[in-house]
Amino acid sequence: MQQRCKFNIETKMDFKQLLDHHGLSCTPCRVEVLKILSEEGKALSEENIRKRLTFPHNRSTLFRTLRTFAEKKIIHVISCEGSLWYAFGSAETGKKKANHIHFHCDRCGEITCLPSAILPRITVPAGFSEQSVSLIVNGLCKKCNKR
Ligand SMILES: [Zn+2]
Ligand SMILES: [Zn+2]
Repeated sequence: MQQRCKFNIETKMDFKQLLDHHGLSCTPCRVEVLKILSEEGKALSEENIRKRLTFPHNRSTLFRTLRTFAEKKIIHVISCEGSLWYAFGSAETGKKKANHIHFHCDRCGEITCLPSAILPRITVPAGFSEQSVSLIVNGLCKKCNKR
């Protein structure tokens, strides 16, 4: 018997399709995390995500969910000032599938995706192998600039 998704409300069906598409079963934690991140539209820390969950999932379930989503490129992970942030969607944008740059606000701490700002191509010396590249622009966000 295949595990049936408990969430069958219309608006949540898209998440089931998304999970199906990536060969993932529909679990309450996965659906909730997808809903939180897609509705938020900006990066959230694991703690922020946990605060928004409507029922408590244990730490490792949430951690595994985030890791699985990142592997499938359903979400992307941003490492900033020693902590990890998660944003909906792949980090890759444009035809060349280059990762985008992120903006970190020094005042409110918010991380914003800059999909139109593409990471420059970095050539590493012979014998080196690239694992990941990230670039964070620090400054004041629109909201904080108005204050
Ligand atoms: Zn700000
Ligand atoms: Zn991003």
